[in-house]
Amino acid sequence: ENLSLMQGKRGLVMGVANDRSIAWGIAKQVHAQGGSLGFTYQGDALLKRVRPLAEQVEAEILESCDVGDDDSIQAVFDKVKEVWGGLDFVVHAIAYADRNELKDKYVHTSREGFLRSMDISCYSFTAVAQKALPLMRPGGSLLTLSYFGAERVMPHYNVMGVAKAALEASVRYLAADLGDDGVRVNAISAGPIRTLAASGIGDFRYILKWNELNSPLRRNVTIDQVGSSAVYLLSDLGSAVTGEVHHVDSGYHTVGMMAVDAAPQ
Ligand code: NAD
Repeated sequence: ENLSLMQGKRGLVMGVANDRSIAWGIAKQVHAQGGSLGFTYQGDALLKRVRPLAEQVEAEILESCDVGDDDSIQAVFDKVKEVWGGLDFVVHAIAYADRNELKDKYVHTSREGFLRSMDISCYSFTAVAQKALPLMRPGGSLLTLSYFGAERVMPHYNVMGVAKAALEASVRYLAADLGDDGVRVNAISAGPIRTLAASGIGDFRYILKWNELNSPLRRNVTIDQVGSSAVYLLSDLGSAVTGEVHHVDSGYHTVGMMAVDAAPQ
């Protein structure tokens, strides 16, 4: 078994809140493949959870970052420049919507809620790409996280679905812009996973059960499975892949309807 797919690569993982975070699943797999890691976390309240995780994978950078603030993002990349001098990858696993926007119907979305969700869940990836670019080495890779609610209506996903659609479009525009620099830009569209962010979505347990019963693999996905797919996009295995939204969802997005007689009892 080759465990050195990320050997010699250094990158920033943004969006670990705890050990259920998708960003943590990605960080573990990158570490297992020999990659060097830095982390950003959202404010001091999360530090006590993130620090032990960062230590577990021998992180070389651990910085607070609010992606709603350009100065805060710039400060992180200044730190990266100081410590590493350059960068091979960035994982952006960050989204936000006010809980009130994820209970009711999309039609009731407030202007304030819409703009906040677009800012944190969509624009922040562009802001990060902008500030990371001067540090990115050729062969570099930027990765963000999306969800099927960008493509089809999912219950209560509402404004997040609209923000994810814009995020997926921005992946394509960024891929076109950064291709000349040898930097790839992709998204993973993950199946539903029980995380802190997901706990804000109404009827999330029902969504999980539905996906389990209606995906070709008849099971939900784990953060480790998202992580191993991320390694493909972050490493040179994915060197010809850019502008892609790669589904890691047990095949759910391919299905119109699963046969009833194949369903588990
Ligand atoms: P999570 O709660 O563990 O991670 C979300 C992260 O976003 C947290 O670390 C939080 O601190 C961070 N964040 C929010 N606002 C921020 C800000 N202003 N500045 C900096 N950080 C901020 O949940 P998760 O499910 O691991 O989410 C990671 C990504 O995966 C998100 O983009 C989410 O939409 C996406 N995703 C999740 C699922 C799922 O079912 N859990 C499915 C598909 C995609």
